[in-house]
Amino acid sequence: MTALRCNVSDLLHHPAARRPETISIPGRELGGVAGARLSSAPLVVDVMVERIPEGIVIHGKVTAEYESECSRCLAPVREAFSVPVNEMFERLPIDGETYPLEGEEIDLELPVRDSVLLDLPTAPLCRDDCAGLCPFCGIDRNASDCTCDPNPPDPRWDALRALTFDD
Ligand SMILES: [Zn+2]
Ligand SMILES: [Zn+2]
Repeated sequence: MTALRCNVSDLLHHPAARRPETISIPGRELGGVAGARLSSAPLVVDVMVERIPEGIVIHGKVTAEYESECSRCLAPVREAFSVPVNEMFERLPIDGETYPLEGEEIDLELPVRDSVLLDLPTAPLCRDDCAGLCPFCGIDRNASDCTCDPNPPDPRWDALRALTFDD
């Protein structure tokens, strides 16, 4: 029993019936992927649930907020996003394509998880033109400049430079 389970008995008894459904859970409950996770802000599933001959279809959108770190400067990143969901639930689901209609209930957790987690950025940025951290001194180049040479000499020449030539 998950928070995104939805009873559709009313629809199953009326062919071609449809109704809107809005469910909200704390986004954190859905977890995350490497690099980004859902914040504690509400995750809102806002869909039209519709009876079709094969079962039940839902179409609408999921809105949530993710939190992560900028992949260049490590600053915290939080951003609201929204993804479309269009899925079918049937008695004999096709693996990877449709979801199970169990008794008189559908569970939106799996399709919501699939759509949302796929949409999370793997390399989030605090802003598109983030300058990142200096790879040499570690200073945040968004906040201040450093004097590091962006093209340091090839260390293979160090041994040669260390040589002194005595006449
Ligand atoms: Zn950044
Ligand atoms: Zn530097």
